[in-house]
Amino acid sequence: MIVVSGIQPTGKPHLGNYLGAIRNYVKLQDEAEAQDGKCLIFLADLHAISMPHDPAQLHASTLEMVATLVACGLDPAKSVLFNQAQVPAHAELQWLLMGTARMGWLNRMTQWKDKAGKNREGQSVALFGYPVLQAADVLLYQATHVPVGEDQKQHLELARDIAQKFNNDFASDDAPVFTLPDPYIPEEAARIMSLRDGARKMSKSEPSDMSRVNLTDDAETMAEKVKKAKTDPEVLPSEGAGLAERPEARNLVGIYAALAGQSVNEVLRQYGGQGFGAFKPALADLLVSVLGPIRDRFVELKDDREALDAILARGAAQAREFSRPTLDAAYSALGLVRG
Ligand code: ATP
Ligand code: MG
Repeated sequence: MIVVSGIQPTGKPHLGNYLGAIRNYVKLQDEAEAQDGKCLIFLADLHAISMPHDPAQLHASTLEMVATLVACGLDPAKSVLFNQAQVPAHAELQWLLMGTARMGWLNRMTQWKDKAGKNREGQSVALFGYPVLQAADVLLYQATHVPVGEDQKQHLELARDIAQKFNNDFASDDAPVFTLPDPYIPEEAARIMSLRDGARKMSKSEPSDMSRVNLTDDAETMAEKVKKAKTDPEVLPSEGAGLAERPEARNLVGIYAALAGQSVNEVLRQYGGQGFGAFKPALADLLVSVLGPIRDRFVELKDDREALDAILARGAAQAREFSRPTLDAAYSALGLVRG
C-alpha cells in the first residue's frame, strides 16, 4: 500500500480540509504503517504557482500548512511529509510526461475549463499543464492509493491514461515503468458546506471568514462563527430524512456527526425536537474540544522554524530516495543520456 496525496499551501486550512482530507491522511498513515507500506503527503507548492500568487504569502502558508498537518496528527516519523519544491523529481518527471500527455486530454479537464473560464488565452501554461504535474506526483512513487475528493477523480484518470500510454510506448509489458494509480475515496468522506450558505462548500478561497471555521481560530471565534451560522427557524427532526430540504441544518448536524464519530441519526436521536438555541452551543463545545488541542499544537509549532525545516528536510530526503528508481527508469526508457 503506497499512499500519496498533496494539499496546496494556499490560504488557511479549515474544518472542511480537516474532516474531508487531513483526518483521512492520519488514518491512512496508520494503515500504511501496519501493512509495511508508505504514506507520502506533500505540500503542493509547485501547483500553487499556476495561479497568480504572492511569493511571501506562499512561503508563509507552506510553513503554516506543515505545522497544521503535524498538529492534526500526521507524524513525520510514520509519514513522509515534504514540499514539492524540495524534491526536483516532481518537476523533472512532469517534463518527461509532457511528451506523452495529449493536448486533447488536457483540454477536456473540467478544472481547467472552470478555472480558465472564457479567458483561456490569458491563463498560465502551468494551469493547463497542472494535471501532468499531478500525474508525476503520484507516478513517481508507484502510488496505489491516492486519497482525493470527487473533484480530483478526473485528474487521476488522466494520470492512469498517461501512465498507460507511457508504458505502452516506451516499456516492455513485463517491466512497466509506472503503476496505474487508483483513486481512494473513503466511505465516510465528509463534504462540509459554508456556514453562510448550505449550497456552497466551505473553502479557503471564499472571501468571508465567517463562512468557515479555520483550524487556527481560537475558542471564542469558533463559538461566535457557530452562533452566527445561517440556520432556519424549525426545530431539528428526529431522523436524517427530515433534513433533506434544509441544507444549513443538514450541514451543522453533519459537522456534529463527523466530529463526534456518530451517524446523523444518532445525533438526531439526541437533539431531535430541539431548536438551534440548544444545538449550536453543543456544536460549538464539540468543535472546541476536537479542534482546541490541534490549535494548541499548531501555535506551539508554527514559529519553530528549526523544527519545521527539519521535518521538511527529512521528508524531502526520503522522497528523493523513494522516487529515484522510477525517475531513472523514465529517463532511461525515453533514451535520454545522463552520463
Ligand atoms: P480552495 O478554495 O483554494 O480550492 P479548498 O478549501 O477547496 O481551497 P483545497 O486545498 O483545494 O482546499 O483542498 C484540500 C483538500 O481538502 C482536498 O482533499 C479537498 O478535497 C478537501 N476539501 C476542501 N474543501 C472541503 C470541504 N468543504 N469539505 C470536505 N473536504 C474538503
Ligand atoms: Mg479546492
